[in-house]
Amino acid sequence: MRTVLHHTHAPNVYASGPLDRADRLRGDQEALTLAISSETARLFPVWRGNNLVQMGDTIRGWTVQATRTDLMQHAKLSVFLGLDSTGAPHFAIDLSDFEEPPEFEPGTAFEDLRKVGPMLGDDDGAILAYARGLVHWHRRHLFCGVCGRPTDSRKGGHERRCTNPDCGAPHFPRTDPAVIMLVHDGADRIVLGRQKDWPPGRCSVLAGFVEPGESLEDAVAREVMEEVGLPTTDIRYNSSQPWPFPSSIMLGFSARATAEEMTIATDEIEEARWVSRAEIAASPEDETFALPRRDSIAYRLIQDWMAQGN
Ligand SMILES: [Zn+2]
Repeated sequence: MRTVLHHTHAPNVYASGPLDRADRLRGDQEALTLAISSETARLFPVWRGNNLVQMGDTIRGWTVQATRTDLMQHAKLSVFLGLDSTGAPHFAIDLSDFEEPPEFEPGTAFEDLRKVGPMLGDDDGAILAYARGLVHWHRRHLFCGVCGRPTDSRKGGHERRCTNPDCGAPHFPRTDPAVIMLVHDGADRIVLGRQKDWPPGRCSVLAGFVEPGESLEDAVAREVMEEVGLPTTDIRYNSSQPWPFPSSIMLGFSARATAEEMTIATDEIEEARWVSRAEIAASPEDETFALPRRDSIAYRLIQDWMAQGN
């Protein structure tokens, strides 16, 4: 992982990408039109939620140029992502209008970041997550939530505005806050649960969406109580992670349970149990017991607790 000075921790996967988002350019349509067709431009295609990648021992994001007019005619949308350290402009383009995923060079394919994310480098992962998240937001906000008329893209794809002159409501990209928390006993055990639709053996820490009128700490305490019936205290922030599947930001916490006996809400989770450091260290990573995926903040919360305790 990269070390970024403004973090107290190394950033999580998908966070702290390499681009300067250059919001100063978003309002300058002329500059953006020049930028997207420049020789140095890198365009990251997205097709129906999937990112274009080059498959191999490692997986990389694959880019195209605006000289591909066959593509650009079908690009429903372009979103200005920012500039890299050389000043090269980066864009996401939405190719979802193609009935089938368009084909590119051999070895490239449109893949779901949920599947290939753990095999990407940090920089590529962050850019693809950003591209995917913004394109998804556009596709879900084609109509105004105020008056129901169509919206169009503005500000390099960082705003949509209602086309009804009597309304004109602006709409901004959204990210939905979710809390994810490692519940521990103040000693050697944490709570791991699993949901019915997860791969066999996969366990993770608890998580849930923040509701209006709640602080993040309120949401942590409520979700733990709802899912496993445990009261908590000592709620502490760890770190956060953009999680564009489809549009969340995961806010990671630890919390100490003040009781031991759990009451499982089986409509939310299939099972939950107390697990010791020794059991986690010896995880067979098979259908009997497997830790969360390596690119997730859940995995990171567990690793931090394994290393330091709480
Ligand atoms: Zn409207």
